[in-house]
Amino acid sequence: KTKIKMKVTEHIANSKGKPLISFEILPPTKGKSIHSIYEILDPLMEFDPSFINVTYHRSEQIFKQRTDGSFNKVDIRKRPGTVGICAAIMNHYKVDAVPHLICGGFSKDETENALIDLNFLGINNVLVLRGDPPKGEKYFRPHPNGHNFAIDLVKQVVELNQGSYLEDDITNADTTNFCIGVAGYPEKHFESANPMLDLMHLKQKVDAGAEYIATQMFFDNKKYFEFVKQCREADIHVPIIPGLKPLSTQRQLTMIPSIFHVDLPEELVKNMMNASTKQEQRKVGEDWLFQQASELMEHGVPGLHFYTLGKPDLVYNVMKKLT
Ligand code: FAD
Repeated sequence: KTKIKMKVTEHIANSKGKPLISFEILPPTKGKSIHSIYEILDPLMEFDPSFINVTYHRSEQIFKQRTDGSFNKVDIRKRPGTVGICAAIMNHYKVDAVPHLICGGFSKDETENALIDLNFLGINNVLVLRGDPPKGEKYFRPHPNGHNFAIDLVKQVVELNQGSYLEDDITNADTTNFCIGVAGYPEKHFESANPMLDLMHLKQKVDAGAEYIATQMFFDNKKYFEFVKQCREADIHVPIIPGLKPLSTQRQLTMIPSIFHVDLPEELVKNMMNASTKQEQRKVGEDWLFQQASELMEHGVPGLHFYTLGKPDLVYNVMKKLT
Protein backbone atom coordinates (compact mmCIF):
# COMPACT_ATOMS: atom_id res chain seq x y z
CA LYS A 1 0.00 0.00 0.00
CA THR A 2 1.35 3.43 -0.88
CA LYS A 3 2.18 5.84 1.91
CA ILE A 4 0.57 9.19 2.54
CA LYS A 5 2.09 12.66 3.03
CA MET A 6 4.91 12.04 0.63
CA LYS A 7 6.14 14.21 -2.19
CA VAL A 8 5.45 13.08 -5.74
CA THR A 9 9.20 12.73 -6.22
CA GLU A 10 9.40 10.48 -3.13
CA HIS A 11 6.57 8.35 -4.50
CA ILE A 12 8.52 7.98 -7.74
CA ALA A 13 11.77 7.13 -5.92
CA ASN A 14 9.95 4.59 -3.71
CA SER A 15 8.31 2.85 -6.65
CA LYS A 16 11.76 1.52 -7.65
CA GLY A 17 11.22 1.70 -11.39
CA LYS A 18 7.66 0.35 -11.35
CA PRO A 19 5.38 2.96 -12.94
CA LEU A 20 3.16 4.51 -10.33
CA ILE A 21 -0.48 5.26 -11.01
CA SER A 22 -2.22 8.60 -10.54
CA PHE A 23 -5.65 9.93 -11.45
CA GLU A 24 -6.79 13.46 -12.13
CA ILE A 25 -10.23 14.78 -11.29
CA LEU A 26 -12.05 18.11 -11.52
CA PRO A 27 -13.88 19.63 -8.56
CA PRO A 28 -17.63 19.15 -9.05
CA THR A 29 -19.67 22.10 -10.25
CA LYS A 30 -20.84 24.28 -7.38
CA GLY A 31 -23.80 22.74 -5.55
CA LYS A 32 -22.61 19.14 -5.67
CA SER A 33 -21.31 17.38 -2.59
CA ILE A 34 -17.98 15.64 -1.99
CA HIS A 35 -19.80 12.34 -2.59
CA SER A 36 -19.79 13.07 -6.31
CA ILE A 37 -15.98 12.89 -6.05
CA TYR A 38 -16.03 9.72 -3.99
CA GLU A 39 -18.33 8.10 -6.58
CA ILE A 40 -15.67 8.66 -9.23
CA LEU A 41 -12.75 7.62 -7.05
CA ASP A 42 -14.21 4.68 -5.10
CA PRO A 43 -13.78 2.08 -7.86
CA LEU A 44 -10.37 3.45 -8.89
CA MET A 45 -8.88 3.08 -5.41
CA GLU A 46 -8.60 -0.66 -6.12
CA PHE A 47 -5.51 0.20 -8.18
CA ASP A 48 -3.69 1.78 -5.25
CA PRO A 49 -2.90 5.14 -6.84
CA SER A 50 0.08 7.00 -5.42
CA PHE A 51 -1.71 10.33 -5.64
CA ILE A 52 -4.82 12.02 -6.97
CA ASN A 53 -4.59 15.35 -8.78
CA VAL A 54 -7.33 17.93 -8.39
CA THR A 55 -7.54 20.70 -10.98
CA TYR A 56 -7.89 24.42 -10.14
CA HIS A 57 -10.38 26.73 -11.80
CA ARG A 58 -10.71 30.45 -12.14
CA SER A 59 -13.97 32.33 -12.21
CA GLU A 60 -15.62 33.21 -15.48
CA GLN A 61 -17.52 36.33 -16.39
CA ILE A 62 -21.01 35.60 -17.63
CA PHE A 63 -23.97 37.74 -18.54
CA LYS A 64 -27.12 37.22 -16.47
CA GLN A 65 -30.40 38.67 -17.64
CA ARG A 66 -32.18 41.00 -15.22
CA THR A 67 -35.99 40.99 -14.93
CA ASP A 68 -36.13 44.17 -17.04
CA GLY A 69 -34.37 42.33 -19.88
CA SER A 70 -31.01 44.09 -19.52
CA PHE A 71 -27.85 42.16 -18.81
CA ASN A 72 -25.61 42.11 -15.78
CA LYS A 73 -21.98 40.95 -16.01
CA VAL A 74 -21.11 38.67 -13.08
CA ASP A 75 -18.08 36.69 -11.94
CA ILE A 76 -18.91 33.06 -11.33
CA ARG A 77 -16.49 30.44 -10.08
CA LYS A 78 -18.14 27.24 -11.17
CA ARG A 79 -15.66 24.79 -9.72
CA PRO A 80 -14.27 26.06 -6.44
CA GLY A 81 -13.05 23.76 -3.67
CA THR A 82 -9.71 22.34 -4.85
CA VAL A 83 -7.98 22.78 -1.49
CA GLY A 84 -10.89 21.30 0.50
CA ILE A 85 -11.29 18.39 -1.90
CA CYS A 86 -7.59 17.54 -1.57
CA ALA A 87 -7.87 17.47 2.23
CA ALA A 88 -11.04 15.37 2.02
CA ILE A 89 -9.37 12.87 -0.32
CA MET A 90 -6.37 12.52 1.98
CA ASN A 91 -8.62 11.99 5.00
CA HIS A 92 -11.05 9.65 3.32
CA TYR A 93 -8.71 7.41 1.34
CA LYS A 94 -5.38 7.97 3.10
CA VAL A 95 -3.82 8.76 -0.24
CA ASP A 96 -1.91 11.87 -1.29
CA ALA A 97 -3.69 14.59 -3.20
CA VAL A 98 -1.95 17.00 -5.54
CA PRO A 99 -3.75 20.31 -5.97
CA HIS A 100 -3.14 22.32 -9.12
CA LEU A 101 -2.52 26.04 -8.71
CA ILE A 102 -2.92 28.52 -11.53
CA CYS A 103 -1.83 32.10 -12.16
CA GLY A 104 -4.85 33.21 -14.22
CA GLY A 105 -7.61 34.91 -12.24
CA PHE A 106 -5.74 34.97 -8.93
CA SER A 107 -3.62 37.56 -7.17
CA LYS A 108 -0.32 36.61 -5.57
CA ASP A 109 -1.97 37.16 -2.17
CA GLU A 110 -4.83 34.78 -2.92
CA THR A 111 -2.30 32.21 -4.05
CA GLU A 112 -0.20 32.70 -0.95
CA ASN A 113 -3.30 32.17 1.20
CA ALA A 114 -4.11 28.96 -0.69
CA LEU A 115 -0.54 27.77 -0.10
CA ILE A 116 -0.84 28.58 3.61
CA ASP A 117 -4.05 26.50 3.79
CA LEU A 118 -2.35 23.61 1.97
CA ASN A 119 0.63 23.79 4.30
CA PHE A 120 -1.58 23.69 7.41
CA LEU A 121 -3.38 20.69 5.97
CA GLY A 122 -0.14 18.79 5.42
CA ILE A 123 -0.50 18.87 1.63
CA ASN A 124 3.05 19.19 0.38
CA ASN A 125 2.56 18.88 -3.36
CA VAL A 126 1.44 21.40 -5.97
CA LEU A 127 1.24 21.26 -9.74
CA VAL A 128 1.93 24.82 -10.86
CA LEU A 129 0.33 26.14 -14.05
CA ARG A 130 -0.38 29.36 -15.81
CA GLY A 131 -4.01 28.65 -16.70
CA ASP A 132 -5.83 29.42 -19.93
CA PRO A 133 -7.73 32.54 -20.95
CA PRO A 134 -11.31 32.47 -19.68
CA LYS A 135 -14.00 31.31 -22.12
CA GLY A 136 -14.65 33.88 -24.79
CA GLU A 137 -11.17 35.46 -24.53
CA LYS A 138 -8.40 34.62 -26.93
CA TYR A 139 -5.27 35.68 -25.11
CA PHE A 140 -4.10 35.07 -21.58
CA ARG A 141 -4.08 38.19 -19.44
CA PRO A 142 -2.58 38.01 -15.97
CA HIS A 143 -4.48 39.18 -12.90
CA PRO A 144 -3.36 42.79 -12.14
CA ASN A 145 -1.62 41.52 -9.00
CA GLY A 146 -0.87 38.06 -10.31
CA HIS A 147 1.64 36.19 -12.40
CA ASN A 148 2.21 36.18 -16.13
CA PHE A 149 3.78 32.73 -16.48
CA ALA A 150 3.88 29.48 -14.52
CA ILE A 151 7.57 30.10 -13.76
CA ASP A 152 6.65 33.19 -11.70
CA LEU A 153 4.33 31.08 -9.56
CA VAL A 154 7.03 28.41 -9.25
CA LYS A 155 9.30 31.14 -7.87
CA GLN A 156 6.62 32.25 -5.37
CA VAL A 157 6.30 28.68 -4.03
CA VAL A 158 10.10 28.30 -3.87
CA GLU A 159 10.29 31.53 -1.86
CA LEU A 160 7.66 30.29 0.56
CA ASN A 161 9.69 27.09 0.90
CA GLN A 162 12.49 29.37 2.06
CA GLY A 163 10.21 31.16 4.55
CA SER A 164 9.84 34.26 2.41
CA TYR A 165 6.26 35.62 2.37
CA LEU A 166 4.91 38.45 0.22
CA GLU A 167 4.98 40.85 3.16
CA ASP A 168 8.65 41.49 3.81
CA ASP A 169 8.07 42.41 7.46
CA ILE A 170 7.36 38.76 8.24
CA THR A 171 10.72 37.59 9.50
CA ASN A 172 11.89 34.25 10.92
CA ALA A 173 8.88 32.60 9.29
CA ASP A 174 8.52 28.83 9.27
CA THR A 175 9.41 27.37 5.90
CA THR A 176 7.03 25.29 3.80
CA ASN A 177 8.03 22.11 2.05
CA PHE A 178 6.20 21.97 -1.26
CA CYS A 179 7.23 19.63 -4.05
CA ILE A 180 6.53 21.48 -7.27
CA GLY A 181 5.46 19.91 -10.55
CA VAL A 182 4.99 21.77 -13.84
CA ALA A 183 3.37 21.03 -17.21
CA GLY A 184 5.25 19.94 -20.34
CA TYR A 185 3.92 19.63 -23.87
CA PRO A 186 5.17 16.77 -26.08
CA GLU A 187 3.43 18.45 -29.03
CA LYS A 188 4.45 22.01 -28.02
CA HIS A 189 2.33 24.51 -26.14
CA PHE A 190 0.05 26.10 -28.72
CA GLU A 191 1.23 29.66 -28.07
CA SER A 192 4.91 28.85 -28.42
CA ALA A 193 6.66 29.93 -31.61
CA ASN A 194 8.53 26.62 -31.91
CA PRO A 195 9.29 23.45 -29.92
CA MET A 196 12.81 24.56 -28.96
CA LEU A 197 11.57 27.81 -27.43
CA ASP A 198 8.89 25.92 -25.52
CA LEU A 199 11.56 23.51 -24.25
CA MET A 200 13.69 26.44 -23.16
CA HIS A 201 10.77 27.81 -21.11
CA LEU A 202 10.24 24.36 -19.62
CA LYS A 203 13.89 24.20 -18.63
CA GLN A 204 13.56 27.59 -16.96
CA LYS A 205 10.68 26.24 -14.83
CA VAL A 206 12.79 23.27 -13.80
CA ASP A 207 15.84 25.43 -13.08
CA ALA A 208 13.59 27.67 -10.95
CA GLY A 209 12.68 24.71 -8.73
CA ALA A 210 10.19 22.34 -10.40
CA GLU A 211 11.02 18.76 -9.47
CA TYR A 212 9.01 16.85 -12.05
CA ILE A 213 7.01 17.39 -15.23
CA ALA A 214 3.48 16.15 -15.95
CA THR A 215 2.73 16.07 -19.65
CA GLN A 216 -0.22 17.27 -21.62
CA MET A 217 -2.17 14.33 -23.03
CA PHE A 218 -0.90 12.70 -26.19
CA PHE A 219 -2.31 9.85 -28.27
CA ASP A 220 0.86 8.75 -30.01
CA ASN A 221 3.54 7.39 -27.65
CA LYS A 222 6.26 8.32 -30.15
CA LYS A 223 5.56 11.98 -29.35
CA TYR A 224 6.23 11.32 -25.65
CA PHE A 225 9.40 9.31 -26.27
CA GLU A 226 10.75 12.01 -28.58
CA PHE A 227 9.85 14.72 -26.05
CA VAL A 228 11.68 12.93 -23.23
CA LYS A 229 14.72 12.58 -25.50
CA GLN A 230 14.65 16.28 -26.35
CA CYS A 231 14.28 17.21 -22.68
CA ARG A 232 17.31 15.11 -21.73
CA GLU A 233 19.33 16.66 -24.57
CA ALA A 234 18.28 20.08 -23.26
CA ASP A 235 19.62 19.14 -19.81
CA ILE A 236 16.22 18.62 -18.20
CA HIS A 237 16.69 15.58 -15.99
CA VAL A 238 13.60 15.49 -13.74
CA PRO A 239 10.98 12.70 -14.05
CA ILE A 240 8.47 13.23 -16.88
CA ILE A 241 5.10 11.65 -16.07
CA PRO A 242 3.01 10.90 -19.17
CA GLY A 243 -0.61 12.10 -19.14
CA LEU A 244 -3.23 9.87 -20.75
CA LYS A 245 -6.78 10.71 -21.62
CA PRO A 246 -9.45 8.19 -22.55
CA LEU A 247 -11.20 8.92 -25.82
CA SER A 248 -14.71 7.57 -26.15
CA THR A 249 -16.72 9.33 -28.86
CA GLN A 250 -16.42 10.38 -32.50
CA ARG A 251 -17.22 13.94 -31.47
CA GLN A 252 -13.95 14.11 -29.53
CA LEU A 253 -12.03 13.69 -32.80
CA THR A 254 -12.67 17.36 -33.50
CA MET A 255 -13.04 18.62 -29.93
CA ILE A 256 -9.76 17.32 -28.51
CA PRO A 257 -7.46 18.92 -31.10
CA SER A 258 -9.24 22.26 -30.82
CA ILE A 259 -9.21 22.34 -27.00
CA PHE A 260 -5.87 20.70 -26.23
CA HIS A 261 -3.90 21.36 -29.44
CA VAL A 262 -2.76 17.78 -29.89
CA ASP A 263 -2.87 15.50 -32.95
CA LEU A 264 -4.82 12.29 -33.19
CA PRO A 265 -3.07 9.44 -35.03
CA GLU A 266 -4.57 8.27 -38.34
CA GLU A 267 -5.21 4.74 -37.09
CA LEU A 268 -7.12 5.94 -34.03
CA VAL A 269 -9.25 8.30 -36.14
CA LYS A 270 -9.93 5.57 -38.71
CA ASN A 271 -10.97 3.08 -36.02
CA MET A 272 -13.20 5.64 -34.35
CA MET A 273 -14.86 6.63 -37.64
CA ASN A 274 -15.55 2.96 -38.41
CA ALA A 275 -17.25 2.45 -35.06
CA SER A 276 -20.95 3.08 -35.58
CA THR A 277 -22.45 2.55 -32.13
CA LYS A 278 -21.59 4.40 -28.92
CA GLN A 279 -20.47 1.11 -27.45
CA GLU A 280 -18.10 0.41 -30.34
CA GLN A 281 -16.66 3.91 -30.05
CA ARG A 282 -15.97 3.42 -26.35
CA LYS A 283 -14.29 0.12 -27.16
CA VAL A 284 -11.99 1.82 -29.70
CA GLY A 285 -11.00 4.41 -27.08
CA GLU A 286 -10.49 1.77 -24.43
CA ASP A 287 -8.33 -0.43 -26.68
CA TRP A 288 -6.23 2.58 -27.69
CA LEU A 289 -5.69 3.68 -24.10
CA PHE A 290 -4.77 0.13 -23.09
CA GLN A 291 -2.25 -0.11 -25.93
CA GLN A 292 -0.72 3.24 -25.06
CA ALA A 293 -0.54 2.50 -21.33
CA SER A 294 0.98 -0.96 -21.73
CA GLU A 295 3.67 0.26 -24.13
CA LEU A 296 4.55 3.12 -21.78
CA MET A 297 4.74 0.71 -18.84
CA GLU A 298 7.06 -1.62 -20.74
CA HIS A 299 9.17 1.40 -21.52
CA GLY A 300 9.71 2.04 -17.80
CA VAL A 301 8.04 5.44 -17.49
CA PRO A 302 7.95 6.93 -13.96
CA GLY A 303 4.18 6.77 -13.80
CA LEU A 304 0.91 6.75 -15.69
CA HIS A 305 -1.26 9.77 -15.04
CA PHE A 306 -4.86 9.32 -16.16
CA TYR A 307 -7.03 12.31 -16.93
CA THR A 308 -10.10 10.64 -15.50
CA LEU A 309 -12.42 13.52 -16.51
CA GLY A 310 -15.88 12.01 -16.47
CA LYS A 311 -14.74 8.64 -17.82
CA PRO A 312 -13.70 6.71 -14.71
CA ASP A 313 -15.26 3.46 -15.96
CA LEU A 314 -13.12 3.46 -19.09
CA VAL A 315 -9.99 4.11 -17.04
CA TYR A 316 -11.16 1.38 -14.64
CA ASN A 317 -11.46 -1.19 -17.46
CA VAL A 318 -8.00 -0.34 -18.79
CA MET A 319 -6.41 -0.51 -15.34
CA LYS A 320 -8.10 -3.86 -14.72
CA LYS A 321 -6.51 -5.24 -17.88
CA LEU A 322 -3.13 -3.72 -17.05
CA THR A 323 -2.84 -5.18 -13.57
P1 FAD B 1 3.69 28.37 -18.99
O1 FAD B 1 4.74 27.44 -18.58
O2 FAD B 1 3.66 29.71 -18.33
O3 FAD B 1 3.76 28.55 -20.56
C1 FAD B 1 2.75 29.22 -21.28
C2 FAD B 1 3.29 29.70 -22.63
O4 FAD B 1 4.18 30.77 -22.42
C3 FAD B 1 4.10 28.64 -23.38
O5 FAD B 1 3.86 28.84 -24.74
C4 FAD B 1 5.51 28.96 -23.03
O6 FAD B 1 6.44 28.52 -24.01
C5 FAD B 1 5.46 30.48 -22.91
N1 FAD B 1 6.41 31.05 -21.97
C6 FAD B 1 6.78 30.57 -20.76
N2 FAD B 1 7.65 31.40 -20.15
C7 FAD B 1 7.82 32.45 -20.98
C8 FAD B 1 8.57 33.66 -20.91
N3 FAD B 1 9.34 33.95 -19.86
N4 FAD B 1 8.50 34.52 -21.96
C9 FAD B 1 7.73 34.24 -23.03
N5 FAD B 1 7.00 33.12 -23.15
C10 FAD B 1 7.04 32.24 -22.14
N6 FAD B 1 -5.42 24.78 -16.48
C11 FAD B 1 -6.22 25.20 -15.47
O7 FAD B 1 -6.84 26.26 -15.56
N7 FAD B 1 -6.36 24.46 -14.32
C12 FAD B 1 -5.71 23.28 -14.14
O8 FAD B 1 -5.85 22.64 -13.11
C13 FAD B 1 -4.86 22.81 -15.20
N8 FAD B 1 -4.16 21.65 -15.08
C14 FAD B 1 -3.28 21.25 -16.06
C15 FAD B 1 -2.51 20.09 -15.90
C16 FAD B 1 -1.60 19.68 -16.88
C17 FAD B 1 -0.75 18.46 -16.66
C18 FAD B 1 -1.50 20.43 -18.08
C19 FAD B 1 -0.56 19.98 -19.17
C20 FAD B 1 -2.26 21.57 -18.27
C21 FAD B 1 -3.15 22.00 -17.27
N9 FAD B 1 -3.91 23.18 -17.40
C22 FAD B 1 -4.74 23.60 -16.38
C23 FAD B 1 -3.84 23.97 -18.63
C24 FAD B 1 -2.73 25.03 -18.60
O9 FAD B 1 -3.05 26.03 -17.67
C25 FAD B 1 -2.56 25.60 -19.99
O10 FAD B 1 -2.03 24.62 -20.86
C26 FAD B 1 -1.83 26.92 -20.13
O11 FAD B 1 -2.11 27.45 -21.44
C27 FAD B 1 -0.30 26.85 -20.01
O12 FAD B 1 0.09 26.55 -18.76
P2 FAD B 1 1.66 26.33 -18.39
O13 FAD B 1 1.72 26.16 -16.94
O14 FAD B 1 2.24 25.28 -19.25
O15 FAD B 1 2.22 27.78 -18.80
